[in-house]
Amino acid sequence: MADMEAYLSNLQPDLLNMTRLFQLPDRVWEEMELKARAEEGLFRARVRGLGLEREKCAEIPGDTGDERLTELHRRRCARRLCRQTLYELCREATGMHPPWGSLTGIRPTRLLYEGLESGLSLKAAAERVRRDFDVTAEKAELLREVVETQSSLLPPDMGQADVYIGIPFCVTRCSYCSFSSGEIGDGHLVEPYLDALEAEMREGAELLRESGLTLRSLYMGGGTPTSLTAKQLDRVLKCMRRCFPGRVETTVEAGRPDTLEREKFRVIRAWGADRISINPQTMNDETLRVIGRKHTAEDVRQAYAMARETGMDPINMDLIAGLPGEDTDMFAHTLREAEALRPESLTVHTLAIKRSSRMQQTGEGLPEGGMVSRMVDMARDCARFMGMRPYYLYRQKSMAGNLENVGYALPGHACQYNVDIMEEHTHILAFGAGGISKRVFPEEGHIERAPNVSNIEIYIEKWREMAGRKRDLFLPRENE
Ligand code: SF4
Repeated sequence: MADMEAYLSNLQPDLLNMTRLFQLPDRVWEEMELKARAEEGLFRARVRGLGLEREKCAEIPGDTGDERLTELHRRRCARRLCRQTLYELCREATGMHPPWGSLTGIRPTRLLYEGLESGLSLKAAAERVRRDFDVTAEKAELLREVVETQSSLLPPDMGQADVYIGIPFCVTRCSYCSFSSGEIGDGHLVEPYLDALEAEMREGAELLRESGLTLRSLYMGGGTPTSLTAKQLDRVLKCMRRCFPGRVETTVEAGRPDTLEREKFRVIRAWGADRISINPQTMNDETLRVIGRKHTAEDVRQAYAMARETGMDPINMDLIAGLPGEDTDMFAHTLREAEALRPESLTVHTLAIKRSSRMQQTGEGLPEGGMVSRMVDMARDCARFMGMRPYYLYRQKSMAGNLENVGYALPGHACQYNVDIMEEHTHILAFGAGGISKRVFPEEGHIERAPNVSNIEIYIEKWREMAGRKRDLFLPRENE
């Protein structure tokens, strides 16, 4: 590590996340001091602050024979040492034990898969994560269960690709939303958007054929695809089916109950979607109003009844723990209602306030972590009671209590696409505004991306450019 000083300054954002884990204000850094050096085959890190001092060392990883790889290993080692030293100091100073310990900025399941690859049993790999990162025993067990459930799904296959189709319109914008979707308004952008999307899908179908990849799953998300009219939905699903034929898992997000009607379910079924998602987020009317969703709990009940009547299942349900003004009693009410609606899968998000959300702009703070942690536990117990098992898990920045989002499903109802997108082990061809196509290079352990623009108007104008980016990603020209 040639320049330790420069390296430490690059680490700063990462270290800020670490002190925030302990709910420490960023100004603690005014009196915090972190120093790292390399000597006699060891990295040494020393942190001073919060009235304490801590020093740790780690062996510098050996030369791999590949200069780039050796540097990468050494940087990782130094980064981890600095983070760990800081973590231990904060833990001692505050007496807090964050549920995921010092784990930030890395997918927890990835660590388990790394353990499995190195020959450990699943149980031993989970135990190693618990020990190395100070993760609580409960979260380590959750991780173990998730990876165990995933072992019954399709394994990664570099000859396959998932297809994502984005419909970036919603009837109104939820206050916590950070997606690039726009309010549908008078709908004047919808038809030009669908023209562009269909053209991009047709080019994508050609690309899929030329690249020799086979289809693994289809996912139509957004936004809210069902904010389209039944006729528009019919048009776009028909194009999707023609471009990407084959009997694969097909999901359509029918997120907002206020967009649902019988005819739309009929159309979704007619084009072979075998999984939908109807998302109340909460079953408390006052909260629904506060977060800007123009529907009631009764609309959710009716939407589920209508979906079942039209033969639509399985149905996934999304809930959020920690919504503004909610306490554990209100969340318990939501869980009881969820149970009565008998979804085949349940995704429990922890409220996160992202930069582009209205909540962030209005200065809304996150709820108290301990309460949200109890809600998350209640949801886990409820999912278990319904016979579900956790099958995917991810964490984001700015989540209440630094917790997690977990997808639970009844046996046979886990969504392959959700696992693929979170584990990042499968190629993805994404169409529409805001979609991000990914090509996975498993040998090198890296991913290349081709993002589409998020702005709907620019997408309509420049979809050809996005199609070209995807082509360059999956079929790079010979001399490049
Ligand atoms: S329904 Fe989903 S995509 Fe639409 S505004 Fe709400 S959170 Fe955002």
